Amino acid sequence: MLKMGFVGWRGMVGSVLIQRMIEENDFNSIEPIFFSTSKAGKTCPIFDAKIQNAYDLNKLKKLNVIITCQGGDYTKRIYKSLRNSGWKGYWIDSSSKLRMDSNSIIILDPINLKIIEQSLDLGIKNFIGGNCTVSLMLLSLGGLFKNNLIEWITSMTYQAASGAGSKHMIELLNQMRILGNLVKKNNHAKSILEIDSKITKYMGSLPIKNFGAPIAGSLIPWIDQKMDNGQSKEEWKGNVETNKILGFSPNTIKIDGICVRIGAMRCHSQAFIIKLKKDIPLYDIESIIKEHNPWVKVIKNDSNSSLKKLTPAAVSGTMSIPIGRLRKLSFGKKYITAFTVGDQLLWGAAEPIRRMLKILVNR
Ligand code: NAP
Repeated sequence: MLKMGFVGWRGMVGSVLIQRMIEENDFNSIEPIFFSTSKAGKTCPIFDAKIQNAYDLNKLKKLNVIITCQGGDYTKRIYKSLRNSGWKGYWIDSSSKLRMDSNSIIILDPINLKIIEQSLDLGIKNFIGGNCTVSLMLLSLGGLFKNNLIEWITSMTYQAASGAGSKHMIELLNQMRILGNLVKKNNHAKSILEIDSKITKYMGSLPIKNFGAPIAGSLIPWIDQKMDNGQSKEEWKGNVETNKILGFSPNTIKIDGICVRIGAMRCHSQAFIIKLKKDIPLYDIESIIKEHNPWVKVIKNDSNSSLKKLTPAAVSGTMSIPIGRLRKLSFGKKYITAFTVGDQLLWGAAEPIRRMLKILVNR
């Protein structure tokens, strides 16, 4: 049985990964060992085992596989020393730290299983989960990618608070509570303007330790660091990661857009404008999309269906990746638009990692 060490299992991605592994009985076929950067020595609530120190190289070196959902700083601190010490196990990581390295594969098996299998045969040992919006975009438009129909895409994202981690979720809830309580106290206000001006006044004094700006009742049009070309790093990932996952050289398919954090708790949404390589009837586009994988669902382009099936509230906690608002744009016959929503903690993070573990176990 493979000895698998889990680091970062207490966080958002890690907890969802463990939940999915329990649901799928994955723990029956591995020997799990739980690590933490802050809770070493305590008892793991999942399997009643002692939690190990995630910085202890000697303990880590004994593992066949390390799964880290801890974040890039941990990878930066541990990965090189571990490899330098001669460790030859599989490193599976949800952070972006090693994603673009030449000896790393970005894992999204419904899209690139062949590349994963080939690289395992070649002895590659680093398998890294993709950026959440990139993975969700690829799964929602998988059929169009597979049939080589896309010339370029702009993706405008609406990304949930949980995409930034557990502390950010708590901050969003605290901000919502503060704003909500102001309204409660103001229930008998004479006019909506009174409520509105009170909210606006307090918006500036909300706790913003993690987000850097109010997110409840607002949005933040910037995610991650600035790149030299004016993109945010989140926007840069759209192009480079998509092409790498598909096995293309950079910029083969052009993807660009603006990434925005919104006050949704869970699920990333994206609005696409796509230029196709040829004019195809909308009906055929819908068929190509829905036939690609079991999780993508084409939603009728009407108000009722969109409200019922195409919102974070409807999709959170599910494996479905609905795509709707599909229509031809007035710009020309090769231009289409679409809107998709997906749970960024499931298909956007934990599920590709869980499925990679299965691939290793089954080899
Ligand atoms: P997170 O929720 O902030 O958790 C990371 C670690 O923080 C935990 O494993 C835990 O480690 C520690 N921690 C400190 N206080 C905690 C608390 N109150 N509750 C739970 N954990 C706490 O981070 P994450 O969102 O899971 O992201 C992990 C990595 O995955 C990042 O590199 C991120 O970029 C990437 N990723 C995230 C998403 C997403 O949707 N969130 C999607 C794709 C990729 P210790 O046990 O060691 O203290």
